[in-house]
Amino acid sequence: MATDGDTVFGKILRGEIPCDQVYGDDLCIAFRDVQPQAPVHLLVIPREPIAQLGDAGPEHQALLGHLLLVAAEVARQQGLASWRTVINSGLEAGQTVFHLHVHVIGGRPLTWPPG
Ligand code: AMP
Repeated sequence: MATDGDTVFGKILRGEIPCDQVYGDDLCIAFRDVQPQAPVHLLVIPREPIAQLGDAGPEHQALLGHLLLVAAEVARQQGLASWRTVINSGLEAGQTVFHLHVHVIGGRPLTWPPG
């Protein structure tokens, strides 16, 4: 699925709506989820508006690696020693915002499997 960037995260990237940003660089930003599922719940999103992980291709290899490294960096910055990273890809996986994002969730014991 292509996206023209006209999602809530596109609006955040363009500064049209606010967010509680904790990190930013040339490729991505990280900010707090507005409906946190744990004491720490961050979202890492690329500036490039890829709709979902299933749409990424070989040209995105370095970007995807960068997103995971940033996820680990912001988790550590928040004081986490353990955390979960989640990427929902597609409606049935629970994706609601079609701009690729990595959830970083921690600060409480997490169970498995997820719902
Ligand atoms: P997903 O269900 O994987 O697509 O995750 C989308 C996430 O974006 C959810 O956890 C929402 O709470 C979060 N979210 C939606 N709108 C905003 C917003 N304006 N600022 C921060 N997080 C948001």
